[in-house]
Amino acid sequence: MGRIRILPDQVANKIAAGEVVERPASVVKELLENSLDAGAGELRIEVESGGRRLVRIADNGCGMLRDDALLAFERHATSKLRDVKDLLSIATLGFRGEALPSIASVSRLLLDTRSAEETTGTRIEIAGGRMLRCEEAALGRGTVVTVRDLFYNVPARRKFLRSEQTELAHIASLATHYSLAHPEKTFELRSGTNELLHVTPVGSLKERVYQVFGSQALDELVELGTREKDLFVAPGQEEDEPPVRTFRLTGFFSRPQVQKANRNSIFIFVNGRLIRDRLLLHALSSAYHNLMPPAAYPFALLFIECDAEEVDVNVHPSKTEVRFRHSSFLHDFVRDTIRERLVESRPAPWFSPAPRAGSPAGAAAQPAAQLPYSEFSQMIENQPAAPLSELPAAREEAPAGDMPAFELRPAAAPAPRLNFSAPPLEVTPGPAPSGKLSRHLDAHGEFPPEAIPPPEMSLSVLSELRPLGQIHESFIIAAGRDGLWIIDQHVAHERILFEQVLKQRAAGRVETQRLLMPLIVQLTPEQQIDYARIAGELHASGFETEPFGNRTIAVKAAPAAVGAADVEKILFEILETAEDELRGASLEDLRRHICAGIACRAAIKINTRLDAAKMEWLLRTLAQTDCPMSCPHGRPVALHYSTREILKAFHRI
Ligand code: ADP
Ligand code: MG
Repeated sequence: MGRIRILPDQVANKIAAGEVVERPASVVKELLENSLDAGAGELRIEVESGGRRLVRIADNGCGMLRDDALLAFERHATSKLRDVKDLLSIATLGFRGEALPSIASVSRLLLDTRSAEETTGTRIEIAGGRMLRCEEAALGRGTVVTVRDLFYNVPARRKFLRSEQTELAHIASLATHYSLAHPEKTFELRSGTNELLHVTPVGSLKERVYQVFGSQALDELVELGTREKDLFVAPGQEEDEPPVRTFRLTGFFSRPQVQKANRNSIFIFVNGRLIRDRLLLHALSSAYHNLMPPAAYPFALLFIECDAEEVDVNVHPSKTEVRFRHSSFLHDFVRDTIRERLVESRPAPWFSPAPRAGSPAGAAAQPAAQLPYSEFSQMIENQPAAPLSELPAAREEAPAGDMPAFELRPAAAPAPRLNFSAPPLEVTPGPAPSGKLSRHLDAHGEFPPEAIPPPEMSLSVLSELRPLGQIHESFIIAAGRDGLWIIDQHVAHERILFEQVLKQRAAGRVETQRLLMPLIVQLTPEQQIDYARIAGELHASGFETEPFGNRTIAVKAAPAAVGAADVEKILFEILETAEDELRGASLEDLRRHICAGIACRAAIKINTRLDAAKMEWLLRTLAQTDCPMSCPHGRPVALHYSTREILKAFHRI
């Protein structure tokens, strides 16, 4: 008795309709998902010419019975869904029963499959949707689908295919990210004779991240561990609904100093499905709010697990858009969990020479087996299209106005006011010292390995730093247990003040100072509207203002931290941003923004001479902040040059 059924019309009609096969990468995605649904532990992908000439996926999954193999090419034939009710809780990656027939109609397809229940396998050959052959064959258990000459019979589609390199990059990205979602499985990707990815089963996501991206990337990432949160559903909403829903979040995300110019390095899986979702992207950027400039994006690999009923995957044919039943709960859970973990990890930026390609975090991938991938991820980074844009309907074909957050126009690169991308110290290790040179070094004194202090990543060590002086009366140079630190005095002070003002604001005790004479400020009509919206929050933050005639306000008091001369400037700064981005912002965002504005105005400026006592005070106080690593606008506070890096640069290790 076969497993596959043709869906009755009333179910088929409820399935989000649309095209599945748009490009080689979508073939790879559908076939990979089928192999995963079949419970395969080994997935081997082979492509030629970026998937145009050949895509072959071999798995050791459950295989298909003879009758099922034939049925699988009918539209709406699936083993994963029976009735309308099943649509509400889909636990498999596929469910539409459309991938195999769609692929078979635009290519020359060969299916080799054998289920454990049968002793001989089945071979089916189809070209352009016409069955050419169906015969018994001696085969191992599992399934091999070979797709040749994609769109050979649809010249119009063939013309619009992207370059082979672009397609290959998307395929590599897909395979890599599905391999990250399944560390317990083997994944292999070959393009012609090139092995692009080969990972064998490991016990944890961390090990898989290491296999794929290398150890340096791991250093730049924060591991979340598993965090859970329960949602209590009001009883009686629906029959037999469990009262508690548990949401689970695991994954890795980058420290704030790893800043990407677009969302290409964000991968979100929900119940094992790679999705793109505006809500979750927003949750992620809110977690980095005030830690990273607004135009920059982190690297993130997030896995959300929840009851299948909590997520509707039947929204779009590509199955990459989903709808959550309790979306705001999930949004806040993701945002708060990531933010908490970021604050906990309190890492320090370090000197990173020009961005290193080859890993999500920009670090060079190390393990030899993964070198080919590193080339690939570099290639992906250089592609105009995002890996996620592979997911159908993401870009070119997306209807206008659909998913604005996923418009893949490259976001403006973060433009830090002070550019540290070319650090003053070049740390690329030179050639290995010759024997002669080593002796020469020895004569200058040994540096025994045990004397190299352990790397010091946390900024809690700031309190122990010895300030040595300033560069340009702007940056504090300090010696620590492990190497050298450079601290931007303005940004450091800004972070201190920001947290102070925020705390005072939360406690309802913002220190204010009365102005000798009220300051009269003239507003434009637009500013007047924004002012009305934020007046309450301004007041709570220490600005005492009153309407004073038409489009004019009188400021009577201001936060104590702000000098009288700066009051007008800061008010305008706040109102200016209110115009652009804060119109839709939450009260919380608005509050943080106002506090950040106050802190920025009140902080010590660069080009200011500081004596030793002031520098010490600054470092100690900075160490006590929650987030000493970046200013409220997301710029780095400190750069760290470890002893190990110094030794390396001097060829002493
Ligand atoms: P769907 O995955 O939505 O069910 P597909 O057209 O992708 O639809 O596949 C049709 C059916 O063929 C699946 O439901 C499954 O029973 C079977 N099938 C496809 N690929 C495999 C595979 N690699 N191993 C075992 N069965 C498969
Ligand atoms: Mg499928």
